[in-house]
Amino acid sequence: MNGHTRYTTAAADALTVALAAHTAPQWHHLALCAQTDPDAFFPEPGESAEPAKRVCRGCDVRPACLTYALEHNESHGVWGGLSAPERRRLVARPVPLPIPLPRKADPGEVAA
Ligand code: SF4
Repeated sequence: MNGHTRYTTAAADALTVALAAHTAPQWHHLALCAQTDPDAFFPEPGESAEPAKRVCRGCDVRPACLTYALEHNESHGVWGGLSAPERRRLVARPVPLPIPLPRKADPGEVAA
């Protein structure tokens, strides 16, 4: 076993423990990453996070996932399509999210 294997296994274990420690968020069962390799969401230093981000771009619960990560100060891995450094930059200097958020209904608007 090399250091790479130990790191990624530890990261996947940390995610499992972290998710078990929290009440499972309602969106979790819709997480597209649950159908993929969890190690892709914890790239080694120097490895691209793009494969994980590509999965996130097709995930229906991306806004909820990113919100969860920001609210829980998740400091490792890709959550909601953003890497940990990208989330830190977002918190330090908020910018418009690259995610379309649900539009609030106008007052008086009748649902179809
Ligand atoms: S946005 Fe990405 S990390 Fe979050 S649940 Fe979806 S696939 Fe997983």
